Amino acid sequence: MIFDLAVIGAGMSGLAAAIRGAMSGKKVVLLERHTRIGGLNSYYFRQGQTIDVGLHALTNFYQPRQSTSPLFRVLRQLRISYEELQLLPHRSSVVSFPDQELVFSNQREQLLTEIAQKFPAEIDNFMRLIEWAKEYPLSALSGGEYKSARAFLPSIIKDRLLQEMLLFPIMFYGSSWEDDIDLEQFAILFKSIFLEGLSRPKGGVRVILQILQQRLYEEGCELRLGREVVEVVDVKDVSLLLKVRVGAQTEEVFARKVISCAGYLETDALFSKEKVKGMSDEVNIAGKISFTEAIWCCRRTPAWQHAVVFFSKNNQSYYRRPPGLIDTNSGLICFPDNFGEKNEGSERTVRLSLLANFDLWHQLAQSSQSSQTMEYQEAKQQCEAMSVALLRDYFLRQRLDQGPYQGLNQGIDSVLGEVIFRDFYTPWSIHRYTGRVGGAVYGCQKKFRDGRTTHPNLYLCGTDHGLLGVVGALLSGITVANQYIVAESAL
Ligand SMILES: Cc1cc2nc3c(=O)[nH]c(=O)nc-3n(C[C@H](O)[C@H](O)[C@H](O)COP(=O)(O)OP(=O)(O)OC[C@H]3O[C@@H](n4cnc5c(N)ncnc54)[C@H](O)[C@@H]3O)c2cc1C
Repeated sequence: MIFDLAVIGAGMSGLAAAIRGAMSGKKVVLLERHTRIGGLNSYYFRQGQTIDVGLHALTNFYQPRQSTSPLFRVLRQLRISYEELQLLPHRSSVVSFPDQELVFSNQREQLLTEIAQKFPAEIDNFMRLIEWAKEYPLSALSGGEYKSARAFLPSIIKDRLLQEMLLFPIMFYGSSWEDDIDLEQFAILFKSIFLEGLSRPKGGVRVILQILQQRLYEEGCELRLGREVVEVVDVKDVSLLLKVRVGAQTEEVFARKVISCAGYLETDALFSKEKVKGMSDEVNIAGKISFTEAIWCCRRTPAWQHAVVFFSKNNQSYYRRPPGLIDTNSGLICFPDNFGEKNEGSERTVRLSLLANFDLWHQLAQSSQSSQTMEYQEAKQQCEAMSVALLRDYFLRQRLDQGPYQGLNQGIDSVLGEVIFRDFYTPWSIHRYTGRVGGAVYGCQKKFRDGRTTHPNLYLCGTDHGLLGVVGALLSGITVANQYIVAESAL
């Protein structure tokens, strides 16, 4: 049997591509190396708790009547109802630098008021930035070239600190370049985070995954879990043969077209004998951005108002692979229970993501042959302890004598003192789980914006297509499938 479409990887983008392909009447198989779908955004169960991997916040929040939002397009294309997601908007989030803080929520006026109060000379420029972002021509599917957002931003925003405070959360939410971000990505993420806003499904990422899995079955797509594609072979330009590892066995899958969300370098490596694209001259495009993530499940939620805190200890933002195992200059703290009305969330977790150095974690894991070794485990424990110290330090530096911050340092201490479960991921965990080269969460530094490779029947979707985050990945899978699979059925 020859499938019309084989999708490699059940990340968000692969799931969306498979659903769209199957919706157009194609025979579709989705192959995922793990026994659970979701890729970088998945979940697991521990001690009676469901723990999300990855998801802090969904970007691109919209109210039911706002039909221009990318998330609206995603749901419409996949025939998912808005109500099913049960989105809880964040109450507020904050970009926190030593000399200034910017609080924002899904009410755009809040950020405008903040800018007007804290950067009065910049409010008109900020309004211009909003108009610029709204009108930015998106080149996805037309192969636009990389442009530096850092070089562009001073042409609109003059204040150095404000430039940094806008760049920082946007880089953290989707840049595969160090200390900068592609201008198109900047425009997309500026709109996604600040103009549309953040939310989280009640019940976390598994709600989204359960809905997507249900849609796969409804459309008749064959989902094969625990199947790792280990090689792809061209069969006389008619179809592609995928060699698939299933435990100790190998099975063969034939497909006329293949869409991969595994990443560009990762997919390229599958063509071991006949390269789709020469890798040798492209080694430098490997992404360097990876993170550790500490998760603390607590008996109660700390009394803190913000959902996401993008903090930097310096007024010049830092976003690059650090020289040590982790970077303690900046990070992202997430309180999942601060989405929705007070007491609506019940996850009782605190999460902290820090930039981290894949090579060092890799060496630790490799030097002793296994990630279960003492050295690696000890390093994890040390870095988790440093993460706790960083969290405490962050709250201590707040003006705790004021309003909602009052008594918060004791709150954090007592909350973290009653942790029922803790976990700590490293860039090596990300690599082992998803196969991402270098644990690069945001993929290669080069993006393949038309989704094409030099093989006529092989396409890329997701991170290396250039659309990032959960909503971006879903949109990417839809876009690539519509362009190369659905359009074909319509001819
Ligand atoms: C710690 C962390 C926090 C994040 N926080 C957020 C957030 O708050 N909001 C947000 O929007 N985004 C967040 N993201 C980013 C988001 O998770 C990703 O941008 C998005 O999920 C990428 O989806 P994808 O489909 O491109 O790829 P992936 O999720 O990487 O999926 C690739 C899939 O392919 C599979 N695969 C790889 N090779 C093979 C093979 N050979 N055979 C079969 N299967 C294979 C992998 O197992 C995986 O399931 C976060 C990511 C991380 C790591």
